Amino acid sequence: MDALESRFLQYVNKNDDCWLWTGHVDKSGYGHFRMDNATHRSHRVAYILWIGEVPDGTVVHHKCAQKNCVRPDHLQVVTPQENTAEMLERKHYLARIKELEQKLDEAYQLVEELLEDKW
Ligand SMILES: [Zn+2]
Repeated sequence: MDALESRFLQYVNKNDDCWLWTGHVDKSGYGHFRMDNATHRSHRVAYILWIGEVPDGTVVHHKCAQKNCVRPDHLQVVTPQENTAEMLERKHYLARIKELEQKLDEAYQLVEELLEDKW
């Protein structure tokens, strides 16, 4: 293990699932790591450290949707277009889940009302 890797690992909390970044996290939820007098996004550093170079024109994407996760097998390089498409899809699902939760609330309310009538 080289010095960079062991320094990096000081900020990593390895769980069974995601490896969460315990160092500085920016406003948008990405971990930050200082290297060569510059700040880098920690998931990018993790990718370069454990998988390899990030090809030009691609971004490192989280398959697990956990922005501060640095587990290499949760990361993949995608073109920005792919990343946006997946994000939009996720947003769509979240909106749909919210909708369904609301419906469920209404249903519970209805059941309560019905029970009140009965008793
Ligand atoms: Zn993860």
